Amino acid sequence: MNSPQEDALTFPFADPPQSGRAVEVAPGVLWIRLALPFRLDHVNAWALDGGEEGWTLVDTGLDDPRTRQAWEELLEGGLAGRPVHRIIATHFHPDHIGLAGWLTNRTGAGFATSLTEWLYASLLSAGTSPALDAATERFYERAGLDSDTRGALLARRNAYRKAVPHVPVVMSRLRAGDRLTVGGADWQVLIGAGHTAEPVCLYSEAAGLLIPGDQLLPSISPNISVWPSEPDADPLADYLGSFAQLRALPEETLVLPSHGLPFRGLRARLDELGAHHEERLADVLEFCSTGRTAVEVAAMLFRPDLDTHQMVFAMGETIAHLNHLWRDGRLTRRLREDGVDVYRRAG
Ligand SMILES: [Zn+2]
Repeated sequence: MNSPQEDALTFPFADPPQSGRAVEVAPGVLWIRLALPFRLDHVNAWALDGGEEGWTLVDTGLDDPRTRQAWEELLEGGLAGRPVHRIIATHFHPDHIGLAGWLTNRTGAGFATSLTEWLYASLLSAGTSPALDAATERFYERAGLDSDTRGALLARRNAYRKAVPHVPVVMSRLRAGDRLTVGGADWQVLIGAGHTAEPVCLYSEAAGLLIPGDQLLPSISPNISVWPSEPDADPLADYLGSFAQLRALPEETLVLPSHGLPFRGLRARLDELGAHHEERLADVLEFCSTGRTAVEVAAMLFRPDLDTHQMVFAMGETIAHLNHLWRDGRLTRRLREDGVDVYRRAG
């Protein structure tokens, strides 16, 4: 999480809608805000007016009683009078896909996302296995976490299943370049990378709107993490590589992000996010002038008093930066006798 200089960004809507309300931010595009029980206390969802065909909803919020209640109010209030035609999840994270199963049942709508996001959600929603638990334990052991902390992290292993108990079993696959017509508007599917493997972004050139999910956020840096099931991955390269297609969009595009306020200034924001990661990479490289473990690097990058939930993301993000430097040869990685990886600046 970084503190951006937001001078280059403009925010045409200062006040987010209240829970259970929808506010029009462009013709036929409604902004919905749903509460989250975390430090990041909200997620945005979007309703696209498809006329008689009905609403296309983009993201659903977490599956909890408060969010279900907010949707009930919306379906009886701001969205009343038309059916919900389609529900799109930008990616598999619980605050985005959490209520997709419930909402498709509740409304009869179809469900759409990319194949990889749907498979990930389905896999994680099915719960863990002894083999995955062992791989997770080994992953955090190699990172240098002590056994108590590893135990606390492993105790969370079914957190996803609790937050996302029902993933729709039937879906429409969205691919890069697909076009969706919603009402009179044409929306193009862009596929991002890095925050998750194949997140869906929606872009309407005619309307000058981008719905980027978590790929592009105005005031926090999207989490870029390595996870135990793919320990050598380089999601940071994927994330930074995904900027080019967004850079090609007009600067006056109104960005409708999943967290924070709608904004203009997408290239300025991409510059800030790129600079944030470059700075962090330089800090990590410098810090690894002497050999360091991932836990030591995380303690340098993040606050020391992280709770377990934050620790998962801090470790994942730290290892993403270490893997990026290791895979391009700027760091070496050596497995110490005690089973912990040590990273050292190359050369
Ligand atoms: Zn996310």
